[in-house]
Amino acid sequence: MLVLVINSGSSSLKYQVRDVTAEKVLLEGLVEKIGVGNGGGGDGEVLGPKDHAEALELVDAAITAELGGVRLEAVGHRVVHGGERFGEPVLITSEITRAIERLNPLAPLHNPASVLGIRAIAKKWPDLPQVAVFDTAFHRTLPEYAWRYAIPDSLYTNHGIRRYGFHGTSHAYVTQQAAALLQIPVGEFDGVIAHLGNGASVAAIQGGLSVDTSMGFTPLEGLVMGTRSGDLDPSILVFLSRAGWSVEDIDTLLNRESGLKGLAGDNDMRSVVEQAEAGNPRAAMALAVASYRLAKYIGGYHVAVGGARAVVFTAGIGENSSQFRALVVERLGALGIRLDAELNGVRSKEARVISTLSSAIPVLVIPTDEERAIAEATAAVVGAP
Ligand code: ADP
Repeated sequence: MLVLVINSGSSSLKYQVRDVTAEKVLLEGLVEKIGVGNGGGGDGEVLGPKDHAEALELVDAAITAELGGVRLEAVGHRVVHGGERFGEPVLITSEITRAIERLNPLAPLHNPASVLGIRAIAKKWPDLPQVAVFDTAFHRTLPEYAWRYAIPDSLYTNHGIRRYGFHGTSHAYVTQQAAALLQIPVGEFDGVIAHLGNGASVAAIQGGLSVDTSMGFTPLEGLVMGTRSGDLDPSILVFLSRAGWSVEDIDTLLNRESGLKGLAGDNDMRSVVEQAEAGNPRAAMALAVASYRLAKYIGGYHVAVGGARAVVFTAGIGENSSQFRALVVERLGALGIRLDAELNGVRSKEARVISTLSSAIPVLVIPTDEERAIAEATAAVVGAP
């Protein structure tokens, strides 16, 4: 089954054509600068496609050029916000598209882009089934005491202010892969998964289901990320606001200027580690703050799941940065968790164990693959009778 996986951003469209049966990526690409540079068209200005429909024509042209006359059988969309309604991938109808659109206020940068992508495809290929796979869906199983903020109920009922969690497609996929590596049914997996990319979140998994996660109402909460602050005292926002900062300034500060970038001046983990190793104290401090924060979450989630049976690292940093993994696991000694320095140093694209035999529970590295998970979920929904 050939599935086109689409990740629509406000000015970009990332795509993959996957053969789900053969587990292969046939084509992948990125259309950028959608709707950008069409203002005056001055000298040297790069004109991107006018809108998502025009971007889709470029994708179609690439598919024809590279793959000839293949017949796509379904489209799977990464949709950031599924709100409280969507706990599973769904076949898209016009009613579903409107439901995704109604969630725009909760994900103002992402959901509108998904809706544009969905409508462009519905227009161009009206007979092609489309499936929405939500970033929030896996976290629909959080118990109320985990998703509530301790603020008046009216904020939840009137504005939907609660914790939703993100990276769900990755956490769900890695949960399955971890259970497979440990050779247990996924329903018996209790563990903590750290998805550490530019955005980063940790999830508490009990019986294969998400029971807590560090991102909340938006992806800003929780861990120290590339450019996001993660947890902080909300009174800082009030303080800054009283000091004359605008809402936009505060939003930019916390989402784009903070995290590793704010602490070390660089949002890329690879260079932060290199700078720390070269003796840069700010870089070393940034790593200490980030690893300490994550270790605290792992300790907390060990309690949340009633005793984790594994700690799992995934995504760009989790899969590749042996240095950062070591800094985190060093802080987990009280739980009896021990890293095997040699196994941790092995560079590999395979799922693997990196703890010692005497470690209280195994530490795993599991490569994530959100596009694969979206393609498989799409095939399952479309193939279902
Ligand atoms: P995104 O959230 O954009 O998908 P990724 O999962 O690709 O992000 O992760 C990006 C992060 O992974 C960056 O901080 C990058 O420095 C880090 N990273 C990628 N490769 C390595 C590596 N070999 N060593 C250390 N960090 C790495």
